[in-house]
Amino acid sequence: MNDPDAQSSPASDAGAAPAMPLRLLLRFTDTAYEQRFVKHYIAFYFRYVQASLVLGVVLILGDYLVDHIAYGSVESNLLRLTLAFPVLLAGLGYTLLPDARRHWQPVMSGFIITAAFFLFYTLTRIDAEGGEGLRSWVGVLNFTFLQFYCFVILGVQFRYALASGLIILLAFEYTLWQHAGLTTREAAYWSYHVLTLFILAAGIGWWREYLLRKEFVARAALDDSRAAAEQRALRLAHYDEVTGLPNRRLFAELAMPVIERARRGGTGCTVLHLEIDRLSGIHHVYGRGEGDAALADITQRIRLCIRSGDLPAVGQAGENTRVVARLGDNAFSIMLTDLDSQERASLVAQRLLVAVAQPVLVDAQPLVLSASIGIALFPGDARDFTGLMRCAEQAARAAAEAGGAQHMFFDEALNARARDRVLLETELRQAIRVGQLCLYYQPKVDVRDGRIVGAEALVRWQHPRRGLIPPGNFIPMAEESGLIVPLTDWVLHAACGSLRRWADAGLPSLPLSVNLPASSLSDARLLDQLDALMQRYELRPSCLMLELTETMLMRDVTSAISVLERLRAQGYGLALDDFGTGYSSLNYLKRLPVSELKIDRAFVIDVARGGRDGALAAAVITLGKELGLQVVAEGVETQEQSEFLSVRGCVLQQGYLHSRPVALGEFEAMLRAKAA
Ligand code: C2E
Ligand code: CA
Ligand code: CA
Repeated sequence: MNDPDAQSSPASDAGAAPAMPLRLLLRFTDTAYEQRFVKHYIAFYFRYVQASLVLGVVLILGDYLVDHIAYGSVESNLLRLTLAFPVLLAGLGYTLLPDARRHWQPVMSGFIITAAFFLFYTLTRIDAEGGEGLRSWVGVLNFTFLQFYCFVILGVQFRYALASGLIILLAFEYTLWQHAGLTTREAAYWSYHVLTLFILAAGIGWWREYLLRKEFVARAALDDSRAAAEQRALRLAHYDEVTGLPNRRLFAELAMPVIERARRGGTGCTVLHLEIDRLSGIHHVYGRGEGDAALADITQRIRLCIRSGDLPAVGQAGENTRVVARLGDNAFSIMLTDLDSQERASLVAQRLLVAVAQPVLVDAQPLVLSASIGIALFPGDARDFTGLMRCAEQAARAAAEAGGAQHMFFDEALNARARDRVLLETELRQAIRVGQLCLYYQPKVDVRDGRIVGAEALVRWQHPRRGLIPPGNFIPMAEESGLIVPLTDWVLHAACGSLRRWADAGLPSLPLSVNLPASSLSDARLLDQLDALMQRYELRPSCLMLELTETMLMRDVTSAISVLERLRAQGYGLALDDFGTGYSSLNYLKRLPVSELKIDRAFVIDVARGGRDGALAAAVITLGKELGLQVVAEGVETQEQSEFLSVRGCVLQQGYLHSRPVALGEFEAMLRAKAA
């Protein structure tokens, strides 16, 4: 299991349909394969061998008795028994040895040849003493029998049968012509019979072996493909396909005994849970393949980093184990047994963070990723594996929520926060129903004359106990839990309701921006839902501006574009929110039918200092203008920022400098004042 790929066997590519004789022969030039072949048939042939040897003993005994009855006491007749008998019995004894099967073909041909020579000797002696040895058909039959014996007993590997058969044949010919005192006619007569029978026996032996081998190739291919499938199933069940790391299951199998040992030994161990930040963005934008390649790269670094050259195999966790596993799309877990102090765990985490932060090549471009690491210590944080994992995962989530690119230790407060989250979800469900949500409005201002040219509707949660909760604290949770759907329905209704109110009150009509969640683009109802709202509140689509982020569009560019085009055709405004924080390339940007770009606050923050972001912000403004889009800067907080942006042509701005998001009443007052 150490190397999941090291299992290929010579027959795995044999294919089920063998095999011209030559190709068949070539298969068996591999000694390992040949051994496998012999081993496969030996169990069957061994019984056969033993039976044949017993038959040999019986036949020799029979020959002795026949000769004894026919010719009386020819002295050498007894030699038959004293010489050949022990040899055959020794052969039989050999087959009972535990190790016999490994060498039985050469050893057995040795026994047969020896038996044959003893038989020559006996028969020539019988002839010399005036009996009927080689002169009788019974004597000659003995040899023919021995030759069949070779091909039957040594049938698995033809070459042994052929070699021993030939030796016996040559010796027999020699005896016929030299010693037996036969006439030439007799010798030629027996030669002819023995030779033709030899050819017959060899032919049968060869043909049978050919069939055996052919059958074996097919059977071995089947066995191999079954073994490979089992191996693969085992691998899939225990290893992650992309990185080759143990998966959650194997990780648990490896880690549980480690924790058990730590418990008994009174020592400690540590679990680090590492999540790559924003990896799903890469998957969405560049596709699975590129994302996986980046992941494999990072995996390599993580492994190097914790200096665990060899990953332990199933059931082999050693004393000092460092196990890396991939648990999910972007999540890794690392178990360290030789590490039980916060300081040292912290050092390892630092090292990991640095390793992950080295640029990776994605689609031939260097990208910098970051990770959030949660650390849990045994026995301090939890009593068992499951608890330890949960703690580490919670700590990692906290690290991610705190902005990522950092590590955090588990503590009780985190646990409390996790429980809180579950509670919050239940409460939010309730809140949407009973109307605890409200919209705040942040004006979008044209800095040239201070006019309000639009507004963004931002949701808030008026919680009865916790007070006003900002969207950052519940939108992500709503997205995860699916509550985002009813929440968005509510927001759209409220926004349209406000637009209607303003129109009725005779306030200037402005486009109102609404943030749409990622899921809404794949929601088939969206267009109908919006149209229904327009009818119900008697509004024109142009007064609604839908804000979408780059990352959510990039998930599935083609289908996003088709949805956007339909929205655009209906007359809705479309804005690309948080522009600059995603990974979209210019190619895509050109194809997106949006009308507005919102430069992310991150670029605006130190714009006035003329640093890199200043240059970037300026470039983005130019880009947006070139594409014919309306460019809006977000999060403008200072006069300096505002001026820098407007000098570069970005006069539409949104931010605390102009106004914070305000409640409905206050916003209406602002509108009225501007209108006056
Ligand atoms: P966003 O769409 O980028 O919204 C702008 C956020 O920046 C708002 O935060 C706004 O209050 C804040 N902001 C505006 N000007 C400034 C400034 O000058 N300085 C600073 N530091 N911040 C400024 P808010 O309201 O907390 O919303 C946060 C995020 O929550 C929004 O980011 C948006 O992504 C999401 N969100 C808000 N309302 C909704 C909603 O109704 N539906 C959905 N799906 N998401 C929403
Ligand atoms: Ca927005
Ligand atoms: Ca934004």
